[in-house]
Amino acid sequence: MAEIIDGKALSASIREDLASEAKRYEEKYGRKAGLAVVKVGHDPASEVYVRNKIAACDRTGVRSFAYELPGDESEERLLTLIDKLNDDPEVDGILVQLPLPAHISEKKVLARIRPEKDADGFHVVNAGGIMLGLPCTKPCTPAGIIELIKSTGVSIAGKHAVVVGRSNIVGKPCAMLLLAENATVTVCHSRTLDLASYTRSADILVAAVGIGRFIKGDMIKPGAIVIDVGMNRDDGKLCGDVDFREAEKVAAYITPVPGGVGPMTVTMLLKNTIESAFRCRED
Ligand code: NDP
Repeated sequence: MAEIIDGKALSASIREDLASEAKRYEEKYGRKAGLAVVKVGHDPASEVYVRNKIAACDRTGVRSFAYELPGDESEERLLTLIDKLNDDPEVDGILVQLPLPAHISEKKVLARIRPEKDADGFHVVNAGGIMLGLPCTKPCTPAGIIELIKSTGVSIAGKHAVVVGRSNIVGKPCAMLLLAENATVTVCHSRTLDLASYTRSADILVAAVGIGRFIKGDMIKPGAIVIDVGMNRDDGKLCGDVDFREAEKVAAYITPVPGGVGPMTVTMLLKNTIESAFRCRED
């Protein structure tokens, strides 16, 4: 049976260190590190994510600034708010919860956030930084995935890592971070032919597909590390992209859903905010 990679426990231990760092920042600079969280409209999943992020800030000693805008807010007014937050000396990180309503361009909004305050690591400058291996803010979910893999104690270098999914926020940056850790990386997507032939050769398998229980037990190499990014609703219950019951019989290590990647994503957001607060002062 696979060993569970406990994202909650790992998060709790990293958050203890982050709380000390947040306290050190406050003592040194006389104010808390600050994260602005902007939500537009009433997407139910976004409401939960935003609530969790704000609660995590409070518990870690990061000040949160919540902006809840109506669903019909204009793009122009949202961009004006971002400009204001970019210039606000109390705000070290800015997060705009996605998805945005269809009349607002995500591309434009993400590009408007100053890269140094881009807590999510989605700005093109940070995406480019990952590609070139430069110091930059890493996107939270992929950064959390790397920490989860490292927590097993298994070395990433030389392993075959297969990432299923090529989104700009999970799949692609995750592949780049695995490459930076010296894995041999294969990226699969909806047009990949014979997907199972790739997943079955993965020492490290990252599933970021968005289809519940998509990865079956017979698609997994015995002894693999399986990271399940998926957050899908099945009859109101959360389920991952991996068929957990089947996979735990084959894999050596596996993340559960919930309690795996999700908590680490929020933890990496706190880390990005605190690091950005220090960077602003010490550069
Ligand atoms: P996207 O929908 O943006 O991307 C899904 C990817 O899966 C695409 O690259 C797509 O390929 C690929 N895909 C779809 N169908 C197949 C298929 N049949 N075979 C192989 N590949 C396929 O999703 P995200 O990357 O944003 O998110 C993925 C999952 O992770 C979702 O469940 C999401 O909710 C979850 N998530 C969880 C987070 C967390 O903190 N736990 C954070 C972010 C996301 P193509 O490019 O060809 O269309």
